[in-house]
Amino acid sequence: MNPEIIVDKLASFKDRACAGPNEKPVLDYLSSLFPENEIVLEKFKTPKNYLFIVHWLILGLVFGLLLTPRFDIFGLLIISFFGVSAILYFNWYASPVTKFPPLVESHNLIIKGNKQSKKKVILMAHWDTAPISILYTPSMVGNFRSSLKINILLIVLAFCVSLVYWIFPSTILVWLSRALVVYFLGQLVVASWDFYKFGYSNGASDNATGVGAAIATAQKLWKENLPNLEIELVLTGAEEVGMIGAKAYYDNRIGTWNADTMLINFDTLGAGNLKIITETGSWGNIVYDNELIQIAKEVISKDEALGHVKLGAWHTADFDSVWFQRAGVQSVTLGALDQNGRMPNIHRETDVLENVNSKPVHDAVEVAFAMVKKLANS
Ligand SMILES: [Zn+2]
Repeated sequence: MNPEIIVDKLASFKDRACAGPNEKPVLDYLSSLFPENEIVLEKFKTPKNYLFIVHWLILGLVFGLLLTPRFDIFGLLIISFFGVSAILYFNWYASPVTKFPPLVESHNLIIKGNKQSKKKVILMAHWDTAPISILYTPSMVGNFRSSLKINILLIVLAFCVSLVYWIFPSTILVWLSRALVVYFLGQLVVASWDFYKFGYSNGASDNATGVGAAIATAQKLWKENLPNLEIELVLTGAEEVGMIGAKAYYDNRIGTWNADTMLINFDTLGAGNLKIITETGSWGNIVYDNELIQIAKEVISKDEALGHVKLGAWHTADFDSVWFQRAGVQSVTLGALDQNGRMPNIHRETDVLENVNSKPVHDAVEVAFAMVKKLANS
């Protein structure tokens, strides 16, 4: 199937918010594309969007800071808990706050190939769209990683203030903790403002394009009927909450991951040039360097038509592949970046069909298809 047809259809929904009114029609449409495959609708619990998590983290820290001058040890404990939770969450580790209420139910759509094999390639893309955020405007997005780092340092400062107050209480520490309260509440307003104004993004690029590319690749590969290779297509939900659907998929199969299972993830292919993403992460770097990456490099170096496809780095939030990469599962994300290394329009009201260029979508299908064929022959 031509991926553009899928992109067009997905973009015809106003948005694809996790657990929103369009979740069921979107998943029904996607399911309808596979009349011949076994389909599993995998249920999981998640906060409705990341702003619920950000509210818990910031209000928890603020509560701890306000408590410190009166009940120092309780303040310190609360700051420690929410501080550690925040640091885990913003470095894309499992964080306890993702289990805090209110939780909603969302779904991954798993489409099985028609054969089972020891060797397996998972093609993944998230179907959900994100709250619109001022942090993704062109003037702000360049500072995304550094502002995350500053916030992490200020969380550590909040902990230090509370710890020192517990040992040597002083008025200056009370004022410092109040200044931090004002700063954190300001961050909450900044992070939420555009969501209250605009709601969720349409997500034509992020990530209707990825879904279109993953489906087109899977269908092409199923047709090839490659021997000894199973292809599974996984369309995840709640990626925009914090890669929650991919985590649920990963956790539900713990014990099954081995060197014979590989993951190709497709995320945001609607502008710029296709990149093999080899580096992500916020505080530290997460480096993808595995056999799959080597195969991707071979594919792009040997095919002249793919000469413009390069390696790339992305440090503004992360991808569904992060859980697999951290666990040592061979994985890669294919995404598209513009000449400034950015993904234009994502998480903004301008992430609509008119701004989508389908070239990187087709390139991603070509690269992934060639990679899997190489894998099958190796
Ligand atoms: Zn995305």
